[in-house]
Amino acid sequence: MTQKKVAIIGSTGSIGRQALEVIEHHKEKLCVEVLTANKQSDLLIEQALKFDPNAVVIADKSQYQKVKEALSSTDIKVFAGQEALEDIVQMETIDIVLTAIVGFAGLKPTIKAIEAKKPIALSNKETLVVGGELITKLSIENNIPIIPVDSEHSAIFQCLAGEFYNPIEKIILTASGGPFLGKTKDQLRNITPKEALNHPNWVMGNKVTIDSATLMNKGLEVIEAKWLFDLDIKKIETVVHPQSVVHSMVEFEDGSLKAQMGLADMRLPIQYAFTYPERLKTNFPKFNIFNYPNLTFQKPDTETFPCLNLAYHAIEKGGNMPTIMNAANEIAVEAFLKGDLGFLGIPEIIANAMSKYNFIAKANVNDFFETDKEVRDELSSILLK
Ligand code: NDP
Repeated sequence: MTQKKVAIIGSTGSIGRQALEVIEHHKEKLCVEVLTANKQSDLLIEQALKFDPNAVVIADKSQYQKVKEALSSTDIKVFAGQEALEDIVQMETIDIVLTAIVGFAGLKPTIKAIEAKKPIALSNKETLVVGGELITKLSIENNIPIIPVDSEHSAIFQCLAGEFYNPIEKIILTASGGPFLGKTKDQLRNITPKEALNHPNWVMGNKVTIDSATLMNKGLEVIEAKWLFDLDIKKIETVVHPQSVVHSMVEFEDGSLKAQMGLADMRLPIQYAFTYPERLKTNFPKFNIFNYPNLTFQKPDTETFPCLNLAYHAIEKGGNMPTIMNAANEIAVEAFLKGDLGFLGIPEIIANAMSKYNFIAKANVNDFFETDKEVRDELSSILLK
């Protein structure tokens, strides 16, 4: 494998930082071409000085001068603003783009990267939730692979290696169940952000950690899987597996069930996405099966955690419904994290939004952006003080 030049869109986040650990581990095979952040300019500067990329982008324009001055003694190009994110992913020298931005903000840069024929290591699941049909169509037209980074989708991708023509009976996405597995609605009423951010198995960014606690994360992943693997939604099941070592499973028509296992360590799927189809040796902690004598599987409690069914409903309706759901979820999670909304208010806000906003069955890309803006603006003005 020749050395790949990686653009990390969202390098200051949980996935972005772990991606840099992977790159540092395999300097002969991987190097950093582009780094981007939203507001964390200090960390972006630190990363840039360490990894010496060709260019960096700080989305928050007010921090441009600070980043520019800090990197003035280097050759690193500095840009600012959301539009710069869309331009930078098209840079000729990039070999692969890791989309590690959180939320709807990842959609435009991903579209631009695919149009520029850049292979995508896809972590930003909201991109496929909102624009799955468009993104998969674009990737086929441009003959560009979208390689999943999410551990569940990476697991399925790995299970499908060598199975090109074998039809899938179903896939089973595993869910940890989050910090509130087994709790009743009454017990969830006064949950604090601190409690919800305390995930039992994974250390992740705040938004995906709350999504994990509400089971919305699994709902987003069901939609992500539909588009990544071109599956009827009825063929995608979810199972709660609190040990989080079986990352997901594929059942084939002969009844054989393949699972991919490993520790809860995002560096593995990130690395696999960068180096696919090669597997590189690492010194990351290794999975020891004897530490897990009891693996358990149970049905998700969709009564207490309604977000999973809301996501099934959204993708069954199609059109702009997943966009409405996603935007409402992003604002509801933000409001919960700020202490302006209770934990049980999150699914209520999403369900209300899904019945209230104008449904467009044949939505185009403009409809996605307009719907997102309308839901986001209105709910922000109501929920965010
Ligand atoms: P984080 O919140 O930790 O990081 C998000 C990154 O995106 C940061 O670099 C942040 O910059 C940047 N960012 C946020 N908003 C914007 C914006 N409007 N414009 C430009 N950049 C922005 O998220 P995670 O790393 O946890 O998650 C990233 C994505 O990966 C999500 O879609 C998540 O669902 C998915 N994912 C995450 C997993 C994990 O283990 N963390 C596992 C599987 C999937 P700044 O730091 O400056 O704010």
